[in-house]
Amino acid sequence: MSRIPTLADLGDVRGKRVLVRTDFNVPMENGEITDDFRIRAALPTINWLTERGAQVVTCSHLGRPKGQPNPKYSMDPVRARLGELAPGVELLENLRFDPGEEGNDPAFVAKLIEGIDMYVDDAFGACHRAHASIVGPPLTLPSAMGLLLQKEVEVLLGLRNDPKHPFVAVLGGSKISDKLGVVEALLRVVDSLVVGGAMCFTFLAALGNPIGDSLFEPDQVDTCKRLLEQSKASGKTIHLPEDIVGVDAQGNFATFGTRLPEGAKGFDIGPGTAAAFSDVIMDARTVFWNGPMGMFEDPRFEAGTRTVAQAMADTKAFTVVGGGDSAAALAQFRLDDEVSHVSTGGGASLELLELGDLPGLDALRKAPNA
Ligand code: ADP
Ligand code: MG
Repeated sequence: MSRIPTLADLGDVRGKRVLVRTDFNVPMENGEITDDFRIRAALPTINWLTERGAQVVTCSHLGRPKGQPNPKYSMDPVRARLGELAPGVELLENLRFDPGEEGNDPAFVAKLIEGIDMYVDDAFGACHRAHASIVGPPLTLPSAMGLLLQKEVEVLLGLRNDPKHPFVAVLGGSKISDKLGVVEALLRVVDSLVVGGAMCFTFLAALGNPIGDSLFEPDQVDTCKRLLEQSKASGKTIHLPEDIVGVDAQGNFATFGTRLPEGAKGFDIGPGTAAAFSDVIMDARTVFWNGPMGMFEDPRFEAGTRTVAQAMADTKAFTVVGGGDSAAALAQFRLDDEVSHVSTGGGASLELLELGDLPGLDALRKAPNA
């Protein structure tokens, strides 16, 4: 596996037209950008290139226009904001206005790189997709990963390949089936797994606990049994909740043990569990967190997620958060600056942890300058 070229591997960029694949998939409301974080996040790479005399042409997708031009997903507002932050930098129209982007059509790649000398990928969140703008340009152009992508790769492959122990993975969110691959990959490298969120009910059910009407996946019970047995055999701990917060059959807020009464629904880990999970996080040297501990969007059920987020902020461990909703929770509690790294790619970060590679990284590794 050859290395992935970095910006320095582009050589002299002076006078070169460099296509930068960015992630400008910004949140919009009524045609206005509500948060320009992703545009600002691209500036280090853009400035690195322009300061060295390159002419930068950026490109991105925005929303899901499904291969057709649609004014609702026009790049105009992004282009205006980019013009303020990085004058003179160009931005192509929404890549997904053309079906060739998602279809990885060579003719679309050819159109994209017309008049372009070099390619930089700084769109981590799109690297798990073999789309034209991700895997096409490195086939022929000298290419590199941008600074954002480089950081993601270093952090996430570092977790996979060389974590400081104890290494703890904290998992939550809605479905174990969505995350089974990454759970199995993590179990190979972590010392312990902490499980909250809706997925904990499938584990609790696998241990024979009644879980009331909580969200769970009956077809994953056997998988959870196997994971529990496997981890036991390999000397790893899977920490499960010891108390649960939710509503009883009448819909009233209630705290339960691990055996839920009929008709009850669990929506968060309980206070005892949150404290126990925090202790595990405080004692770790590396922590990866994906998936909220409960339905944190409802203030009645945010406490578990908030306590875990606070432990992530307080621990001396190297802390990494991946996943759209986990990152949103962290931002809601204003703790996003208190962890070591918040990954910008939801699906991409889990896939990189699971497989150790992504289509976009593989393409860069095969670039002519690599
Ligand atoms: P991420 O985006 O961080 O990977 P997921 O998408 O897997 O996380 O899951 C996030 C969702 O899981 C949130 O919307 C949250 O409300 C939901 N969730 C977590 N715990 C529960 C629960 N006990 N019952 C129902 N929904 C839950
Ligand atoms: Mg999500």
